[in-house]
Amino acid sequence: MKKPARSKKASEASPEQSQRAIKRIKFKKASDLPLSAISLANTRYNKTGEWRSIRPVIDYNKCTSCMICWKFCPDACIKITDGKPYIEYDYCKGCNICIEECPLKAIEAKEEKK
Ligand code: SF4
Ligand code: SF4
Repeated sequence: MKKPARSKKASEASPEQSQRAIKRIKFKKASDLPLSAISLANTRYNKTGEWRSIRPVIDYNKCTSCMICWKFCPDACIKITDGKPYIEYDYCKGCNICIEECPLKAIEAKEEKK
């Protein structure tokens, strides 16, 4: 008896197979979209901090712990510990949003040294 074909990984698929797969994918409304267009893997394992060219650094002498930076960080990489915000540099991409949103200008953009 013939064994059923094992499904191939995307990287093993021929260009024709990829095209056929793409044609089968039809998104008609937002709820048809996958959870993530980039990766379904947990971002906990994708340490994207290496992309950063600007390093946001909090000046705790100015910071009043209003947590606006925490609210606006699109990567949820600002953590609150003992009532203070801390940036997780393994995940921060240096998008500058926290720097722009901090009402006290307590976050400085420093050049990232590689
Ligand atoms: S927005 Fe600025 S002042 Fe507010 S918690 Fe963040 S760093 Fe501190
Ligand atoms: S620079 Fe962007 S990713 Fe990094 S902590 Fe600020 S808001 Fe979050």
